[in-house]
Amino acid sequence: MPTNAVAPLDTPLTALWGVGPERAAQLARLGLHTVRDLLLHAPRRHEDRRHFLSTRDLKLGVAATTRGRIVVQGLKTFRKDTRSVFEIVLDDGSARLHCRWWNLPFMEKYFAVGDDVMVFGKPNSLKPRTMDHPETEVLEPGSGEEVSLHLDRVVPVYPLTEGLPQRWLRSLVWRTLQDQLRHIAEPWPGIAEEFKVQGSKFKVETGASEAPGQPGTLNLEPGTLPSRSQALRWLHFPDEIAQAEVARQRLALDEFVNLQIQIQTRRRNLQTSARGLPCAGDNHLIKPFLAQLGFALTKAQTAVLREMRKDLGGAYPMRRLLQGDVGSGKTVVAACAALMALESGFNVALMAPTEILAEQHFRNFSKWLEPLGVRVEMQTGNWKTGTSAQLPLPRPATSIQHPASSIQPPASSDPPPPTLTLGTHALLEPAFALPKLGLVIIDEQHKFGVSQREALLRKGRYPHLLVMTATPIPRTLGLTLYGDLDISVIDQMPPGRGRIRTYARGPAQLPKVYEFIRQKIAEGRQAYVVYPRVEDSDLKTGLKAVKQEFERLQKEFAPHRVGLVHGRVRPEEKDATMAAFRANEIQVLLATSVIEVGVDVANATVMLIENAEQFGLAQLHQLRGRIGRGAHESFCVLVVGRETADARQRLRVMEETTDGFRIAEADLKLRGLGELLGQQQSGLPPFRFARLGEDLPLIELARKLAARVLG
Ligand code: ADP
Ligand code: MG
Repeated sequence: MPTNAVAPLDTPLTALWGVGPERAAQLARLGLHTVRDLLLHAPRRHEDRRHFLSTRDLKLGVAATTRGRIVVQGLKTFRKDTRSVFEIVLDDGSARLHCRWWNLPFMEKYFAVGDDVMVFGKPNSLKPRTMDHPETEVLEPGSGEEVSLHLDRVVPVYPLTEGLPQRWLRSLVWRTLQDQLRHIAEPWPGIAEEFKVQGSKFKVETGASEAPGQPGTLNLEPGTLPSRSQALRWLHFPDEIAQAEVARQRLALDEFVNLQIQIQTRRRNLQTSARGLPCAGDNHLIKPFLAQLGFALTKAQTAVLREMRKDLGGAYPMRRLLQGDVGSGKTVVAACAALMALESGFNVALMAPTEILAEQHFRNFSKWLEPLGVRVEMQTGNWKTGTSAQLPLPRPATSIQHPASSIQPPASSDPPPPTLTLGTHALLEPAFALPKLGLVIIDEQHKFGVSQREALLRKGRYPHLLVMTATPIPRTLGLTLYGDLDISVIDQMPPGRGRIRTYARGPAQLPKVYEFIRQKIAEGRQAYVVYPRVEDSDLKTGLKAVKQEFERLQKEFAPHRVGLVHGRVRPEEKDATMAAFRANEIQVLLATSVIEVGVDVANATVMLIENAEQFGLAQLHQLRGRIGRGAHESFCVLVVGRETADARQRLRVMEETTDGFRIAEADLKLRGLGELLGQQQSGLPPFRFARLGEDLPLIELARKLAARVLG
């Protein structure tokens, strides 16, 4: 290896032969500054230029590559205005092809009659054969190597920027690969040999009819991945198009391993630098708590509690994710974990994503814990909706914020009672202190980002952490997203739940649905009607639509009462409405997706979701989780405003299953990870090659490799 001052891959592109200031500026616009950037610049697609379609065989609307010689070309401008069309006519001996570019008059200077031109595009007419705005390359006669680079092989086609020719960039990548591939080391030497992977994921399919050794067959054993340098070559210049996908997977693996190394290092650091606070408790609060609860914990809940007690008494701070489907009873488990820390003399903080949910927890935990002598406090962002611009002080009593003895009257010898503080992200306010913090609990954790989680933890000195989610992501994916957390699962529902039936319906059937709801109300039940969220972008029209809907439903269900909650309703009003709904003073609750998470009213057995196609599967599952919480049979009706094939497919999944795990997997397939986790999930770096939905086996492999690398 050369011992340059600059590592070869960090060489600026300006140092390469043929890259002047103008080209360098163009490359920079693509984010390409160094040799490494260039080698990782993935082609948009590959093109098999060993086989061209003859022009005669082009099909309407089907993308294809063909070539021919320019027999005519011309630029037409229209009257006085600036519009124009430039056209070339190609002939390959079988037929003629017209290629047109609208309003790009400068195209004229790239072509000349007699040029041999390769064209990729979709014919938009066959009489005469025409392509609008195809991709082209003039096949200039050149040196042998030049020609073999752009023709008679599988050729990369790169994303470009204005002024940068495809052929020039292709040549640059080619030359750079020739020079640099020897500098591409295996990132984890010695482990490379173990890149043999079980299963069919890496089997490369080639034409089935071809015999081994023939063109079209890869010289890659099934179940192996290429070396990194081989992968970089195949990324750009594969012998067969299929090799480019194998290369992508190898490069994706490297990305996953790097991420796993970070995650696992973070975890190891925690274990070497932090001691776990002794929070396992002595049962003196949990015993009476469970005795007055009114039901026995399920086996799954008990098992999770046992795991957590071990963590809370362990040498290192607990880092645990509790997964359990909607309604599986995570709150009680959280209460028990809180009690363990409180028994041990530490305080606990619980953060929830919405005010409605925080208030609900406040009510439950006050009811459960205050009789046991625990103080329960509440801190939400209510003041944000107030009129004053200044931030009022957080609500909790000053004795809790300043336990230092200097401000206590000397006579008072009673220590402050153990305190559970509940709240929304208002807990994160820098001015808000959480002294003697032993345990942090985050409910519906997928609604928060990793940085918010870390911010709350920093309010204490390495407190224990319990995060909870009902989004059942596939396990291997969880290892990437939450790789520094241990995972517990509640895989069992509390007994005695009525079942939920789900129906997708069109708007025409609404009168029948309303009739059904009236019937259920007559039987003593209650219903939710969910309306798509009020967007900030068109708040005015959105709010107006919700109000209209509210008035309509009031008439529809009179004399029964209808309540309304959405993100813009004032907190006091929201509280009052929720309280009335819980008390069955309101029979129908019209809500936006603010009730998506957490809300627990067992007597509500009907969930009507309007414009259901606007919600993701995971969200629909959460919303549906608001019903089926009591012994009565429940009904979910999904009303489809605008039906598309995609919507139909999603709603069918909802009709077929109530299993959150199956729904999450379907969502992942149909809409990708972003939709499954929501916008907030910001803990991941951007990936160049990795695809979270498809690459699950790679994540598992990467985890093992990272552990080996770290030793
Ligand atoms: P989630 O897991 O969605 O947060 P909750 O904690 O809100 O679910 O629990 C849903 C409902 O089930 C609550 O009313 C809760 O009191 C009740 N519940 C929890 N555990 C049990 C149990 N073991 N037996 C009966 N009911 C339970
Ligand atoms: Mg919950």
